[in-house]
Amino acid sequence: MLIAGNWKMFRGPEPAELAVRLAGLDGVDVVVCPPYTRLAACAAAGLRTFAQNVHWADEGAFTGEISAGMLQELGVTGAIVGHSERRQLFGETDETVARRAAHALAAGLAVIACVGELETEREAGATEEVLRRQVSVLEPHPSLVVAYEPVWAIGTGRTATPELAQEAHAFIKSLLDVPVLYGGSVKPENAAGLLAQPDVDGALVGGASLDPDSFLRICLAAR
Ligand code: PEP
Repeated sequence: MLIAGNWKMFRGPEPAELAVRLAGLDGVDVVVCPPYTRLAACAAAGLRTFAQNVHWADEGAFTGEISAGMLQELGVTGAIVGHSERRQLFGETDETVARRAAHALAAGLAVIACVGELETEREAGATEEVLRRQVSVLEPHPSLVVAYEPVWAIGTGRTATPELAQEAHAFIKSLLDVPVLYGGSVKPENAAGLLAQPDVDGALVGGASLDPDSFLRICLAAR
């Protein structure tokens, strides 16, 4: 089981304190994805640390971007790509997500590639079509994990039911044989039910990862 905390553009918990809270947690892999300014501190505190994005070039005139090698210099061992906030607010496309993922994996980073349908797409019966399109650009790799994050469940408090998550995860795994995390308003109260599904291999947690107590309780539910 993998539990990843996406701190988004929040300062988040104190890395050293969080590392103490998470120490000795057996049977679950825990990852934190802090903003760029806190990557080094999280890595130095001994937390498994992923960035929230990574570019496909080693270096170049790409203002505001960061390369895999630059992240690795800080002790970062992975990155999220294709988060729905990147897709919706910053023009990320399936093609750029694929390039980011492929380059990061080739450079030796682990990757959490996010996919998920909009509410209108689910209502229109297009969920599988959307997931197929988003997943088809990804190549299988031992360090690749997909996060299924229905966009209507992110930061809204509306979680997919365990059954709905299971159905989507099974579909994604029929396309690409990699672990699949669930993301979308995961909380201590709903984590156990979601994580009990056979094709749910962990969770990508946003809001609840900012509170060390909540995050720890979700990690405990994953064991
Ligand atoms: C996320 O940011 O990936 C996420 C799932 O956020 P939240 O848990 O707040 O819905």
